[in-house]
Amino acid sequence: MNFDKAGFKNSFINQLQSMYGKGLEEADLYEQYMAFGACVREVISQNWIRTRQQYRSKNEKQVFYFSMEFLLGKLLDMYLIHLGLKEPCRQALAELGIDLAALAEAEPDAGLGNGGLGRLAACLLDSMAAMHLPGHGCGIRYKYGLFEQKIVDHHQVELPDNWLKNGYIWEYRKADKTVEVRFGGRITQIIQPDKWMFVHEDYEPVLAVPYDIPIVGYQNRTVNTLRLWSAEPAAIDFDLSSFNRGDYSRAVEYRHSVERISKILYPDDTHYEGRLLRLKQQYFFVSAGLQSILHCFKQRALPWRTLPEKVGVHINDTHPALAIPELMRLLIDEAGLGWEEAWNITVNTISYTNHTTMPEALEKWPVDMLEKLLPRIYLIIQEIHERLCRTVWDKTQSWDAVSEIAIIADGQVHMARLAVVGSYSVNGVAQIHSEILKNHTFAGFSRLYPYKFNNKTNGITHRRWLIKSNPALAELISRTIDSSWIKYPCDLIQLVNYAQDESLQQQFAAIKRQNKLKLAQFISNKYDIQVDVDSIFDVQVKRLHAYKRQILNVLHIMHLYNKLRENPQLDMVPRTFIFAGKAAPGYYIAKQTIKLIHVLAEKINHDTAIQGKLKVVFLENYSVSLAEMIISAADVSEQISTASKEASGTGNMKFMMNGAITIGTMDGANIEIKQAVGDANIVIFGLTAKQVFDYYHYGGYSAWDMYHNDPRIKTVMEQLVDGFFQEEREEFRPLYNDLLHNNDEFFVLKDFAAYCDAQRVVENKFRHSREWQKMALMNIAHSGIFSSDRMGSEYSVGIWKIKPVIITG
Ligand SMILES: *Cc1c(COP(=O)(O)O)cnc(C)c1O
Repeated sequence: MNFDKAGFKNSFINQLQSMYGKGLEEADLYEQYMAFGACVREVISQNWIRTRQQYRSKNEKQVFYFSMEFLLGKLLDMYLIHLGLKEPCRQALAELGIDLAALAEAEPDAGLGNGGLGRLAACLLDSMAAMHLPGHGCGIRYKYGLFEQKIVDHHQVELPDNWLKNGYIWEYRKADKTVEVRFGGRITQIIQPDKWMFVHEDYEPVLAVPYDIPIVGYQNRTVNTLRLWSAEPAAIDFDLSSFNRGDYSRAVEYRHSVERISKILYPDDTHYEGRLLRLKQQYFFVSAGLQSILHCFKQRALPWRTLPEKVGVHINDTHPALAIPELMRLLIDEAGLGWEEAWNITVNTISYTNHTTMPEALEKWPVDMLEKLLPRIYLIIQEIHERLCRTVWDKTQSWDAVSEIAIIADGQVHMARLAVVGSYSVNGVAQIHSEILKNHTFAGFSRLYPYKFNNKTNGITHRRWLIKSNPALAELISRTIDSSWIKYPCDLIQLVNYAQDESLQQQFAAIKRQNKLKLAQFISNKYDIQVDVDSIFDVQVKRLHAYKRQILNVLHIMHLYNKLRENPQLDMVPRTFIFAGKAAPGYYIAKQTIKLIHVLAEKINHDTAIQGKLKVVFLENYSVSLAEMIISAADVSEQISTASKEASGTGNMKFMMNGAITIGTMDGANIEIKQAVGDANIVIFGLTAKQVFDYYHYGGYSAWDMYHNDPRIKTVMEQLVDGFFQEEREEFRPLYNDLLHNNDEFFVLKDFAAYCDAQRVVENKFRHSREWQKMALMNIAHSGIFSSDRMGSEYSVGIWKIKPVIITG
């Protein structure tokens, strides 16, 4: 792209003037950022319009990825990289005395997601645009994203994330594309000579207003769309002029109840609560998204049966599973199709990704709630349920077989079962997870529809998680093997040929050290904790959850500390243990774990007897931006979930791509990482998924046995409750009880010894610097298959059957 530096500087100054009526010197950093953003918007919008036009004229199939979460992070740097404008803009701004990095920092993180699931949606959109694939996102424009985490007196405190307060430069309100979504009311059935008709009356109308965010492809002119819906009140004719107080308060109440719909993101990750507002959110964005898709389709004047050839709707977990009955409703009630035809179209349009097999995460809505809020949708679900049960009964004559697949059971609607029946493809997100889905979670369905089940291992976009977040490493790689890997990340494999190269190892080590220095500086400035950049940066950053086993990491640190107190001269490589992650506000054990990490850090970091060999740091407010800084500085990646529980993980992939060594269990994509890098370049420990299943199934595990037979365990467990940490002895009793009296559901104590051994292996490997750098380089070399480009093309070829559409200039 030609860059006219003088012209750019001019338009930047003009934007500042027209947006804020200010000259360069008067504008603050945020105003400068907004004005610069407006300049970038101009560049993007030309290609955006072009992309839309060419998608329309080429008439190829397009995919819409429905997700309740999109965890985008900051966009400015990504846009500049994708437009090929980062370096020229940096120079032009520098000439005006402005630091581009500081401007980019001024952008708020778009934190419209909890963790892995929302970040996956963001990575997938990035990859589709990079590969010219016509794929768009559909979600909710939450007024408040995931809460901001502050630690006060060692406790997590949640503050609202008012990310839109100063305006968001990357969104485009498309008021003319507003649609209406209807809640509540009554359904009456009108019997006509040749068909039924359903009339919906006394419903509450809600306007869904789209805000579009451009998704820019990597140096290729493609600009796809992420459409986020915002709820606004419809113009209901309340009689405000008559001073009728009842009507006035009704009008106010209506406005509030509507605005609540897109107000907050629920802060629970891998955990669900049957809240009415959440159900409203789900139907709201699903209905709005489908209406707008069908509206476009109708303009093409094609027969309805061709919908699956032109449109794919993918549901990211079961949160958008109401897309199935909603599409049925639109085809039957609005388009006038019969049941069979509508069902065929629906099933061939929708595909589904499952993200977890944990029972507490599988959504089940109470029948009365669904029936009351969405009466027509409930009728359709009932019909789907009855037809399914009949089919299975006719096939098997077995009540057990029927009850295994029933969508409606015990007064609840099982959304995962609805999603499986109503879609043509069901995938898990790592090999082991997809096998568990087939053989356990959906065993009944996989006998019925074996052809639906498949695997699509997760990926991450190397453009954000390497090129943007670790530019020095990206440049080193390009100098070594040339830059083809940016387009074809599997070309990173060529690094294998240089993994033994001493000069490359040293350059890699220097970059890692530089990144560690930057993180150490951040830690020093923010927390006044001094960490040794030559220590092992051992990192566990992810949502707090019992199955992710932060507590295993903590118990091991306590054990190391005990060893050091016993023998301060102990020969050990200094370690800095780094944690970050949010706990769901109502998740007591997770919050206690955060507190324990802080109390432990306080004690260890202030103990001069151990001569700084051990440090523990908890970084507040884990987010995409914080992840970028931490991961590029990591030596060791902690991926220690109980085998079978972590569907895939994506944090694990970000770390390997930045040359960290994984210490992990045989769970999720850790297994595929091990296959890729080889046993010599990863440290694996602990129970296998099969062993875990066998314990759950047959029993035979006793946490107390672990306690009595391993003195290390007994010591650290007692330290939790004997006042070792603080005056308040009972503070950590619930953690103690979970591990002992509740028999340690996640096998923390069972895996403790193996984990300690594995950590010894890590330490010994780190002592051999050249071997370590080689392992790091081998990890980077094999990380190409974990790019979301690979994932996106597998979805496109294997599930959606969509083709690239090259956008011409
Ligand atoms: C990648 C990412 C996650 C997912 O991490 P896991 O270790 O796979 O659970 C969560 N939050 C943020 C901000 C991320 O970038």
